[in-house]
Amino acid sequence: MPSKPTKKKKEKKTTPKKVVAKKTTAKKTTPKKVVAKKTPVKKSATKKNVKKYEEAQFLASIKPYALKKNEKYMNAKQKNHFLSILDSWAEQLQIEQDRTADKIQENVSNFPDESDRATHEEEFTLELRTRERERKLLSKINESIDDLKSSDYGYCASCGIEIGIRRLEARPTATRCIDCKTIEEIHERQQFG
Ligand SMILES: [Zn+2]
Repeated sequence: MPSKPTKKKKEKKTTPKKVVAKKTTAKKTTPKKVVAKKTPVKKSATKKNVKKYEEAQFLASIKPYALKKNEKYMNAKQKNHFLSILDSWAEQLQIEQDRTADKIQENVSNFPDESDRATHEEEFTLELRTRERERKLLSKINESIDDLKSSDYGYCASCGIEIGIRRLEARPTATRCIDCKTIEEIHERQQFG
């Protein structure tokens, strides 16, 4: 039985293929318009900068310890100084990590469509990387807090000398003195380079 395919094709075209369940009222009047595609990209770019800025800003906000003459290295007062630095850093990171987790969840539920998710994959990957970086830094901070409790904090894990108040203030999770760190980095470069 020969049918009329032309008519059927025409019928099919009138029905829109894409049914986007968005709450926007403009949906019916302009179905083909792709709205707000540039905004998420912009957002992630700014956010990345904000994240970097936040970390640098935290380290810069550390008030230098006022050293007294003949003060004993890593006395109770100094330990408290670093404990409060590490505690507030961990707290701030935890808040950021919760925010990142929310963002990842948001991405999953906002783009259930595979093609949509592919469009936002870069953003998604970035969030995952951020979470991983935050997680690593948090565990480093917690190790440093443990070191403080066991009085290992502030001494080089390789040679045992004092790491120094100023170096620790610039890098509160440092476990090596500047010399051992430099040697370690040279060895790493020789191994992998
Ligand atoms: Zn050392």
